[in-house]
Amino acid sequence: MLNLLDADKKLIEDFFEGIGEKKFRAAQTAAWLYRGAVNFSEMTDLSKSLRLKLEEAEAAGQITTGRLEKLDSRRSSDRSTEKFLFGLTDGNAIETVLMKYKYGNSVCVSSQAGCRMGCAFCASTIGGLKRNLTAGEIMAQVTSVLRHIKDEQSIPLASDMERIGHIVIMGTGEPFDNFDNVKRFIELVNSPKGLGISMRNITVSTCGIVPMIRRFAEELPQANLAISLHAPDNRTRDNMMPINKKYPIEELLPACSEYVRLTGRRITFEYALAAGVNDARGNAEELSGLLRHYFCARNETRGLCHVNLIPLNKVKETGMEGSDRKRAENFRDFLIESGIPATIRREMGADINAACGQLRLSKNKE
Ligand code: SAH
Repeated sequence: MLNLLDADKKLIEDFFEGIGEKKFRAAQTAAWLYRGAVNFSEMTDLSKSLRLKLEEAEAAGQITTGRLEKLDSRRSSDRSTEKFLFGLTDGNAIETVLMKYKYGNSVCVSSQAGCRMGCAFCASTIGGLKRNLTAGEIMAQVTSVLRHIKDEQSIPLASDMERIGHIVIMGTGEPFDNFDNVKRFIELVNSPKGLGISMRNITVSTCGIVPMIRRFAEELPQANLAISLHAPDNRTRDNMMPINKKYPIEELLPACSEYVRLTGRRITFEYALAAGVNDARGNAEELSGLLRHYFCARNETRGLCHVNLIPLNKVKETGMEGSDRKRAENFRDFLIESGIPATIRREMGADINAACGQLRLSKNKE
């Protein structure tokens, strides 16, 4: 079945020619999809007969608009964050988060149904990996959220008034465990014929699959990279993130510094503060020493790193607790004083189970 959201341009054009239509109708149809249309009947500048042909082809299982079923959605009490649970055609469910900032809308997408990385603190990995998402399934999360915003504010489908400005690939799944589909998604997001979002506004977060960091630098050098580091030493990181046994810190950080050298881009390290696990003064000292060694000592990567501290969101099943505000501030202040830029991420949506995978998890149990 041809998913019009991610299929190859040539294949879509061939399909349109096959039903006796001009090639350019393919782009016209796609433009509607990227504005949030889910039914051909909504594509008002297509002729009635074309719309009918497309509906028939869809009913016959030849093509799909790739639409997702909205199973659930929750909004945080401050209204800044909204979380969606979408159903895929095979019955799997995935999570997507919309974050509204002063500077625009940001969507956090899932790259896999489930995850096989096994991080000890994360809800998304409980239950393991179901499967990779296709580029169209990742894209449909964005267009579905856009559609949701338009419906809610009664904005006409054809209008470009409400846009998605930023994409973060930080939902469920490990994007570098599904590199090809994620890459295709990013290219579609970036394309003027897709969502037209600048590469600089697209961020991928990885647990640290080292060989893929090099690939990312070479193939998507203008997108942003965030590394889930979470610990400055192998013993602590092994316990939190099994991937560290395969790609320990002494392999991960050189790959990160090579990334910075190749792309000239700043790299972000995510660090979830877990009480009594990785949030002591000693951990901050070790982290700062490590990052200074790789990102400050050498001129070419000087200052090109940033630490994003996130008080760990408690997931009942994992037994870990987040650090309190004071401890987080102390940790941040130490890093800053020692020359490592660091911020504490605003906790958005904790009241709606927005931490990775928690909504999906709660749904699976019902
Ligand atoms: N697999 C990728 C992207 C998905 S997770 C990665 O590991 O980066 C997105 C971020 O949320 C990661 O930094 C992850 O470690 C973090 N995360 C997962 N569970 C969390 C929790 N309970 N509290 C805080 N951060 C969490």
